[in-house]
Amino acid sequence: MIGFIGGSGIYEALDLTDTSEKRIETPYGEPSAPVTIGELAGTGREIAFLPRHGRNHEYSPTTLPYRANVFALKSLGVTHVIASNAVGSLREELPPQTLVVPDQAVDRTRHRPFTFFDEGMVVHMPFTEPYCPDLSAHLAECAREASDAEVVSGGTYVCIEGPQFSTRAESEFYRGQGWDVIGMTTIPEAKLAREAELCYATLAGVTDYDVWREDSEVTLQEVLENAAANEEAIKETVDRAVRTLDDSECRCQSALEGTINTPSEAIPDEVRERVEPLVGEYLDGDR
Ligand SMILES: [Zn+2]
Repeated sequence: MIGFIGGSGIYEALDLTDTSEKRIETPYGEPSAPVTIGELAGTGREIAFLPRHGRNHEYSPTTLPYRANVFALKSLGVTHVIASNAVGSLREELPPQTLVVPDQAVDRTRHRPFTFFDEGMVVHMPFTEPYCPDLSAHLAECAREASDAEVVSGGTYVCIEGPQFSTRAESEFYRGQGWDVIGMTTIPEAKLAREAELCYATLAGVTDYDVWREDSEVTLQEVLENAAANEEAIKETVDRAVRTLDDSECRCQSALEGTINTPSEAIPDEVRERVEPLVGEYLDGDR
């Protein structure tokens, strides 16, 4: 099954049949909404959808239940997650309504749980490539084929805590580092997807020029208008990406191998039980 985390407008626009809703309880609480599952018409492929910010956009980037969201998709048997994010541009050549498929991320968040393994066991997960290279390449190709949008492969997504937009000094600093787009949600989602051994890639739709341009001031209205225009392109892309996905085994799906530093017998029972759906196959069965 393929997971999709993004705006509800895109999901509602997809051509789905046999849709159903699943309320899922996870050890990390409830996801931002019940998961909606449907078959992309005529493909036999199921999509599991989560509106990242909740049905009514009630969760801020700081408070939304990232761990429950990723855990819920994993527990449904999802192997690949396509995400979409609204981002600001830090580059003149990435105007609003460009679709960027980033290949790097910088974590500037401060107040979010960012791992499934925060007590009782230690897992050091490589995160050199924060997004699945195969799924990212597939998404970029599908975006070019299916939409009229400018599509850029690669780039660095700097993820800030929010919910306020940046100051001009911060925006200039990020530009000075050579980073490309700025948003509030790819971290910890990408980190958690890797810990859950999911292939994960994102389509970042540019909504504005952030605030580094002297003539620009980010307004919510500007952001929402461009986001609506990006939605159509993202919908076309997701439709094509799901139809044509090669879901053969990828190294993301064995990412936990060799990363667990705590011996199985030292992991407390309640921790074992909680993380079993994620790491069960790597822990010794008998204690
Ligand atoms: Zn992968």
